[in-house]
Amino acid sequence: MALHKVTEDIPPAFEDVYSTDVSESGLPRHRMPDTPSDPRAVCALILDELALDGNSSQNLATFCTTWAEPEVHKLMDVCLDKNMVDKDEYPQTAEIESRCVRILSDLWHCPSGQATGCSTTGSSEAAMLAGLALKRLWRARRQALGKPADRPNLVCGPVQVCWEKFARYFDVELRQVPLEADATGLRPHQLRDHVDENTIGVVGILGVTFTCDYEPVVELAAELDAIEADTGLDIPLHIDAASGGFIAPFLQPDLVWDFQVDRVVSINASGHKYGMAPLGVGWVVWRSADRLPEELVFRVDYLGGDMPTFALNFSRPGGAIVAQYYSLLRLGRAGYAKVYGACAATAQYLAGEIAGMGPFTLLYDGHGALPAVSWTLTEPDRAPFSLYELTDRLRTHGWQVPAYPLPGGRADTVVQRVLVRHGIGRDKVMLLARDIRTSVSHLTSGVPAEAAHPGFHH
Ligand SMILES: *Cc1c(COP(=O)(O)O)cnc(C)c1O
Repeated sequence: MALHKVTEDIPPAFEDVYSTDVSESGLPRHRMPDTPSDPRAVCALILDELALDGNSSQNLATFCTTWAEPEVHKLMDVCLDKNMVDKDEYPQTAEIESRCVRILSDLWHCPSGQATGCSTTGSSEAAMLAGLALKRLWRARRQALGKPADRPNLVCGPVQVCWEKFARYFDVELRQVPLEADATGLRPHQLRDHVDENTIGVVGILGVTFTCDYEPVVELAAELDAIEADTGLDIPLHIDAASGGFIAPFLQPDLVWDFQVDRVVSINASGHKYGMAPLGVGWVVWRSADRLPEELVFRVDYLGGDMPTFALNFSRPGGAIVAQYYSLLRLGRAGYAKVYGACAATAQYLAGEIAGMGPFTLLYDGHGALPAVSWTLTEPDRAPFSLYELTDRLRTHGWQVPAYPLPGGRADTVVQRVLVRHGIGRDKVMLLARDIRTSVSHLTSGVPAEAAHPGFHH
């Protein structure tokens, strides 16, 4: 075979990744290959497959970090071998985790020195841990009173799916209060009908996933105070600040939502969302150590060290935690405020554009909560297109802008949402607005003029 002969004559340094053995057929899908291959070729071919994924810088659906400074890449690389569970082998990584917990409890106004907390893989694991602590404390209270403790429930508004998961995995009834007709979150006056002696806690959301605004924490706490005064039920409040925990302190510093509210016993946040850490880190902080039942903390004598842990995982990578520390130090309070001030201004700019296009009504205009925008069709029954069709159309320009129904009680309302985060700049959003305009006119043309809503611009 002449070709083979030629190949043999070429020194390995000249080998081309697209003409090695592994490149000449599809990548194995079911069975491990018998022999090794050139690392450059395998890597290039896998990168080619990954290129088929959506472009994360045009993913306006995710809250998660998609842009990072070169220093973050460097720290992530160096931390490839840091295992969070080996606190004895990597004591400085463990120390950095503790510093982050202290910094966050200070940021969230916890009385100094009393907080306890830990990193997690994200807000979902944080929710499991916070929910477990609520459940255990409720059970202990019930048992001390000699009362049954077998029917726990958790009361919340339109929560992210992680709370449904918590409820199912840990045998808790989730009492999700339906949205009222014009509401985007839990309203304080709804609480009384849903809480009872079996309520382990109420979850308030700082940054409702579906609409991007905040639930009124002070008012929810005041209603729980009133319920306690009337019934004696002392129901703790947990705040799911997955997104808002890294926004409110900088964009709404006067908003009271955190440990300044006495009833707030614990808070979770996603470092890998607005915390500006790469994927893989969340946080949960308890107001004081007595809010985290000691029996949930494992003190294992592991490889020679005493290691208190409260986590669902055992081994876990440390890079995102170290990178979280980097972002906190590198930007400081003023840096986070500046980054998110720019994001909020960009979100508000987009809100103005959306409002001006004609067919849309803003649900959240980027003021007062997350740097984001959400909207609905003003007249979904009369509009010549649905938001799902607009989502598809935008996808042809590479944009990922989700359309979805609101949860319980408002399932008839379909919304679209854009999150503006670090790396989503003004210029990009101007191009998005251009493409939304073009898509709307594309979807509207072809429809007989009399059927088109008069508000549409052609
Ligand atoms: C994203 C989100 C979660 C889940 O957080 P992960 O970090 O993705 O696990 C929980 N609650 C809210 C409100 C969220 O926005």
